[in-house]
Amino acid sequence: MNIDLLKRLCEIPGIPGREERVREVIETEIDGLFDEVEVDPLGSLLCRRKATRKGRGRKAKPTVLVAAHMDEIGFYVRHVDDNGFLWVNPAGGFDTRNLFSRRVLVCTSSGDFVGVMNPGGKPIHISSPEDRNKVPTASEFFIDLGMPAAKVKKAVQIGDFVVMHEPFLDQPETVVSKAIDNRFACWTAIEAIRKIDRARGAAGTHGVDIVIAFTVQEEVGLRGAAVAANRIGADYGIGLDVTLACDTPGVPDTERVTRQGDGTAILVQDSSMIADHGLVDELCSVARKHRIPHQRCILPRGGQDGGAIQRAGSGARCAALTAGTRYIHTVTESMKKTDATATVDLLAAWLVQAK
Ligand SMILES: [Zn+2]
Repeated sequence: MNIDLLKRLCEIPGIPGREERVREVIETEIDGLFDEVEVDPLGSLLCRRKATRKGRGRKAKPTVLVAAHMDEIGFYVRHVDDNGFLWVNPAGGFDTRNLFSRRVLVCTSSGDFVGVMNPGGKPIHISSPEDRNKVPTASEFFIDLGMPAAKVKKAVQIGDFVVMHEPFLDQPETVVSKAIDNRFACWTAIEAIRKIDRARGAAGTHGVDIVIAFTVQEEVGLRGAAVAANRIGADYGIGLDVTLACDTPGVPDTERVTRQGDGTAILVQDSSMIADHGLVDELCSVARKHRIPHQRCILPRGGQDGGAIQRAGSGARCAALTAGTRYIHTVTESMKKTDATATVDLLAAWLVQAK
């Protein structure tokens, strides 16, 4: 497993609308893997590979669009106050219970600054029981850069962006990061194409045109994928994303969504999409044939880029390949390595046999 690439992808800051640093790393990484690469007006990176296997007749080959979003949840600076504190507006769904006492990285045109984030209010020593029970909203959190106000005002302006600042953790069987959602998918798409290229014989070719879209602004409503899908006009769509693994204390087994270690998760339904049931069956049968560990899952709330592809242009048959992630949208997003590699294996195997 190419942990180094996943680590590099996870540690780069890139929030909805500011994915350019992630895109640069991917552009360098995919050099030579695709026939054509373009950046669309919103900033998504569209990478095309023509079918490498000859079919019968001259019919145009079907196009498969695989979407992996590059953005992570973060903030935009909305106000710099006279004391040099920064106040922010979220871009993506934060649970504010996870935002206390965080190290953050403020990314500006004059450099990146590490700061700390806390809600306004009194520390435990002097707070009342009511104060301690209250969960603040995102607008009550501020960032302290530990610099004089004048310096802060010179360096930071409204619209600069902020991400959580937390190093990647490589545990024996698990990877942990602030941005497993969704650099895992960027990693999966690259590794699957590499896997096809490395394979010999028929397993090293594909009979469909493949477009990998590294999309923008998924976390604020699948915005980049919608534009990319209209541009491409695909016949098939695969959303690549994380899903929940609530196989942890405090959640009943009936609501776990997936179980870590049981393999890649083939999504049947979420709030953005009902997957094409024929495509779901096909993915399951390809997984069985290649002995790739897999599970089916339903996510009651939440979406992914497949939902936008399905309804773009004249429509596409869509499914989503995901991997169960614990503690989603926190700095401790955790994924089993074997589930990540199973996702690569199934994506590669399905692309090779798609027609
Ligand atoms: Zn995601």
